[in-house]
Amino acid sequence: MTSDKIKVVFIASWMRSGSTILSSMLGQLPTVFNAGEFGFFWEEGLTNNSQCSCGQPFSDCTTWQKIVAAGFSNEAQIDTTALTHHIFFRNINILQFRNLSNPTAELAEKIRLTKQLYQAAQKTTGCDVIIDATKIPAYALFLRQIPDLDVYIIHLVRDPRAVAYSWARKKIKPISAHVSAIRWLYFNFLIEIFLNKPSSKYMFLRYEDFVQSPQKHLERIGNMAGFACHPAAPVQEHTFSGNPGRFENKSLVINPDDEWKNQINRRKNSMVTLIDYSLMKKYGYL
Ligand SMILES: [Zn+2]
Repeated sequence: MTSDKIKVVFIASWMRSGSTILSSMLGQLPTVFNAGEFGFFWEEGLTNNSQCSCGQPFSDCTTWQKIVAAGFSNEAQIDTTALTHHIFFRNINILQFRNLSNPTAELAEKIRLTKQLYQAAQKTTGCDVIIDATKIPAYALFLRQIPDLDVYIIHLVRDPRAVAYSWARKKIKPISAHVSAIRWLYFNFLIEIFLNKPSSKYMFLRYEDFVQSPQKHLERIGNMAGFACHPAAPVQEHTFSGNPGRFENKSLVINPDDEWKNQINRRKNSMVTLIDYSLMKKYGYL
């Protein structure tokens, strides 16, 4: 590495936009560790002991236990509740993450623990780059303010009509088309406003373009963040949070997943298009 900073490639997007397959493919590259939705480490990992993609509960996964030991063996007790998404890393809090050069004691503690987490992951896995698919813009902005991290943003978008269709198909906690459309707009606006500078550390990527030519876009990401993109032998992943597809080998099969086009619900598609019209036009979906 050319700097002491830890390189983090952060996938910023609204949910169900293809981040699982993108992060999995990046995680197959040598010197890259896919940490999945790393921002949920405190709640899904330490608190809920969720199942890792290797099949083990978080507390039995040797990779994560090594990371926990490397980062936090000297900590008396960590207030994981204060670090959860629902309390802290909410997008509504994004304004307080614009400048963390003079943080409150509470924020300074969160910065310290987060820095230790990323340092422990790098040290344990021996990687040069951590892939973070947490997606939440507020969390990305928070990470960018940590001087020890060198954060590159992949702004991943997918046609909001396909995203709304995907949400409706969810067996657990589906959301309605208009809610998906509003959140799609909200997330993409926040990413454009707060995360698109500097341009050397920001990359816009449409899921539809990625599935057409994945290698080309993996190389774009590698060129931006400075790592090699030669394909390697498949590796076992260790992600404790995210899309159920992370448990399946098929997560590495590139699939355009355009079933939604054959299941057209004109009323829902019109509603999504009306809500997201401005950015859909900008992103080439209309
Ligand atoms: Zn594991």
